[in-house]
Amino acid sequence: MSNTPYDYLYPERGHDFSFDWEYTVDERVTQDQAELLRTCEENVREILPLLGVFRDFTCTYVTGLRRGIVGCYVDGTVSHPYIAISRRAIERAAAEYDVDIDVATESTIIHELGHALQEALGIDRESPEAEEQAESLSLFWYNHGIIAPEWANLLALAHGK
Ligand SMILES: [Zn+2]
Repeated sequence: MSNTPYDYLYPERGHDFSFDWEYTVDERVTQDQAELLRTCEENVREILPLLGVFRDFTCTYVTGLRRGIVGCYVDGTVSHPYIAISRRAIERAAAEYDVDIDVATESTIIHELGHALQEALGIDRESPEAEEQAESLSLFWYNHGIIAPEWANLLALAHGK
C-alpha cells in the first residue's frame, strides 16, 4: 500500500454547482462554527493527494437534511466534490458517540468523499456495501492514518499502478 501522492484524475473542477440549487444553506452559522469547518476542511485536504482523484472539495452547512443524516455528497460533482453537512445532526452524532465536534465533522466529510470516490470509480452507490465502504475510508484514516486497504487497491487500479 502506497502513501505516495498520485496525480489527480480530475485536476480541475468540471462543473459550476451551487449549493442553493438543491439545499437550504444554513445562514445561522456563528463565526466559531465557520472557523471550525474551515479547520476541518484543511485537515481533510491532507488525504487528497493520497487519493489522487480530485484536487479539492467544497463543504457547507445546510439545513433540512433528513433527520439523522449528517452529510450528503452532491451527485455529479466528482471533479470537485460538493458536500452538504448538517451542523445540528453532526452535533447530535458527536454527543451520541462521545467524540469531539471536529472529529465528527472531519469523519463526515471523509465519508462523503468516499461516496464521491465511488462515483469516480464507477462503484454502485446504491449497493448494500456502499455505506460501509464509504465509512471504511473515514475509519482507517482516523484509526490508522492510512487509506483503507480496499480503497488503496481500487485507487491503485484506477491509477494504473
Ligand atoms: Zn454515506
